[in-house]
Amino acid sequence: MATTTAPRWEHAVVTGGAGFVGSHLCTALVDQGTAVTCVDDFCTGSRQNVAHLEGRPGFTLLQADITEPFETEPADLVLHFASPASPADYLRLPLHTLETGSLGTRNTLALARRHEARFVLASTSEVYGDPQQHPQSESYWGNVNPVGPRSVYDEAKRFAEALTTAEAAGHGTNTGIVRLFNTYGPRMRGHDGRAVPTFIRQALAGEPLTVTGDGRQTRSLAYVDDTVRGILAMAASDLRGPVNLGNPTEITMLELARTVIELTGSSSTVRFIDRPTDDPAVRCPDITLARGKLQWEPRVPAAEGLARAISWFRAQQTA
Ligand code: NAD
Repeated sequence: MATTTAPRWEHAVVTGGAGFVGSHLCTALVDQGTAVTCVDDFCTGSRQNVAHLEGRPGFTLLQADITEPFETEPADLVLHFASPASPADYLRLPLHTLETGSLGTRNTLALARRHEARFVLASTSEVYGDPQQHPQSESYWGNVNPVGPRSVYDEAKRFAEALTTAEAAGHGTNTGIVRLFNTYGPRMRGHDGRAVPTFIRQALAGEPLTVTGDGRQTRSLAYVDDTVRGILAMAASDLRGPVNLGNPTEITMLELARTVIELTGSSSTVRFIDRPTDDPAVRCPDITLARGKLQWEPRVPAAEGLARAISWFRAQQTA
């Protein structure tokens, strides 16, 4: 006799669900039988990112700007992922980024409170700014310039964390906070300014890969499937967090550029350009907490994740 496993959640609301990470979250939830409402204003995401889910049972796409109050069917999980996330986007949308982190977080928390749902905030390693502690553990308070160009994103997320913490303390809402480090994979936009899609786009076009500074600054890159698994583990827990989710294997930007050239078989060269203001020199998560409390760690090696991302970008070119 066939046995079926009930989905862990009946109905999940995913703000920013038509973005890069959000669309993978929506897909994972729909695949496990959870009904999903994807709430998005398409300021940086697109309908195309969730086109494969339209028509799937239980999937609803709600076009709404969450800086205004919004309502959905009763939900038992609210994943708050709406926010411009790439530097190119938040520099283009500075006020919308601040308002999404503040008003948007307030409205999304209010939704979770009304429905007595578990709430998870997508925060970011950017709350650590240009860190003076390395690797960064959750207890590090960060080194953020409050009036620098990146502050619209960093401070919006720091405020969102404070608001989420106050909501749990003041209203008893079941909240959790994850701090995501750089995540990459299919559905990133080639022109969003982040290193992985930029390098892949340039390599596939045979253009020079533009490495900022001397290329020795490091990032830790997690493949999106690993990140989604960590987020859902956090959602299934009752941890408040913040919990770092990221890949503790560091890679320099120059190494990343050379790896992308190798994996694409491109004849591109590397061109060094100026580093942006307040660009962090190092970024690497301490994931002791995620390992211990969520039994989570990344599984996809960089070469494999990059190869999957490259084949997706190639397929887009020929689609
Ligand atoms: P993305 O830009 O692809 O997705 C963000 C989505 O939010 C988009 O679909 C956008 O249209 C939507 N959105 C923005 N403001 C909105 C608003 N006011 N109302 C409704 N929808 C709105 O970015 P992403 O890389 O998928 O990031 C998703 C979340 O994860 C963000 O909160 C980001 O801060 C966080 N994060 C991502 C990374 C990463 O490496 N991708 C790292 C750290 C944190």
